[in-house]
Amino acid sequence: MRMGADNVKKIAFLTLGCKLNYAETSTYERGFKEAGLEVVPWTAKADVYLVNTCSVTATSDAKSRNLVRKVHRVNPDAVVIVTGCSAQLRRTDYESIPGVARVFGCNEKSLVVPETLGILAGRPDKVAPENTLPPSARKREGSRSDDFQGPPCLDGGMVFPAWSSGERTRSFLKVQDGCNNYCKYCTVPYARGESRNVPVAECVANARRIAALGVKEIVLTGVNTGDFGRTTGESFLDLLKALNDVDGIERYRISSIEPNLLTEEIVDWIASGTKFQPHFHIPLQTGSDELLQAMGRHYTTDFFASKLDYIRKAMEAPGKPLVFFGIDVMVGLPGETEELFAQTVSFLERVRPSFIHVFPYSRRPGTPAANMPGQQSEAVKKERVAVLEGLCERLHAEFVQANRGIREKVLFESTDRQGFMEGYTGNYIRIRRPWEASLCGKIVDVTI
Ligand code: SF4
Repeated sequence: MRMGADNVKKIAFLTLGCKLNYAETSTYERGFKEAGLEVVPWTAKADVYLVNTCSVTATSDAKSRNLVRKVHRVNPDAVVIVTGCSAQLRRTDYESIPGVARVFGCNEKSLVVPETLGILAGRPDKVAPENTLPPSARKREGSRSDDFQGPPCLDGGMVFPAWSSGERTRSFLKVQDGCNNYCKYCTVPYARGESRNVPVAECVANARRIAALGVKEIVLTGVNTGDFGRTTGESFLDLLKALNDVDGIERYRISSIEPNLLTEEIVDWIASGTKFQPHFHIPLQTGSDELLQAMGRHYTTDFFASKLDYIRKAMEAPGKPLVFFGIDVMVGLPGETEELFAQTVSFLERVRPSFIHVFPYSRRPGTPAANMPGQQSEAVKKERVAVLEGLCERLHAEFVQANRGIREKVLFESTDRQGFMEGYTGNYIRIRRPWEASLCGKIVDVTI
């Protein structure tokens, strides 16, 4: 959309939620820039605002709606575009907000740029979402709730490739989308559809594009990343090996991986000396086997503990950095009595993660857990979040202390923080040093 200098259309982006959403917004942004639009901050007056929403909790749904209303107030004449998981699940809510010109569902991501450009050019030709799908994808058992608005997220195996740009240090590379697990508390499969993946060749091509920007680190991103290969028949290990050979990228991290999908074969390969860092983010959710089963999780606490043991044995040795384990835990699940919560606390003491990502359970209409007995009060959830955050602080301090004196490599970020710069070691310890321009985006040896 080439226009005179004073006629350049301005666009602003707002993104909530996960790394996937940031990679997708960044991909839309490159498309609009290529079309000649100018990107401005959302607080500025823009011709179009794109809000990429999140629906992981009731709070993120509400925040998403508030942002859409807010941008309309910033410029009531602007075109407002809504994408993301909350847009998929709460379509009619958004369509009724003043200023909203188009709501894109999860299987319409490839239409976001061309259709928005059409709207800006006065050609609001809208493709009905139902028609973008092969008939085979239209009927599927059990994955639809009346609590969700708009057509189901039928994807027919299509996946919208995406990667983040704009940051000099690391990039989020989308390799997988959707999930088939339907854990009892989770809306993600309804919002993002079935598990599907970007072909290995396309992931490698995107990694090369990222390397060409001088970025040194890539974070592999997906909904159920380890479930890579559902739609192409390629394996997750195939992907890791192919990416490992991409010149220019020196470090990889896996954003999150289910414990049962982080196989010993993958661990052995990573431990054999690759660009994949000793850093694993693994969702546990609860340390109670009774609740794991009730929530439809696919492992037991013993299995989880044995997985961490295996990784530590394969990757740790005297004088080498310890493996960083970031673990997701949800507190206040339906049925989580004081006794079951105590089981979670003692299990975490046993497996000693380096960091605990604590989430209070959010009751999501449309999920089976929402109708389960034993719903916990917000006060109880708040209390349990505080307990685990306290435990996290102690365990993280002990992890850093246990790495003292170890030689490690740090990728320094370019942000000048009052005369200092920061960066992460391979095993995800934050290091701070006096700012030095020549070290920006560089990997440097340090003693922790
Ligand atoms: S694995 Fe479970 S919690 Fe994670 S996205 Fe899938 S359904 Fe949700």
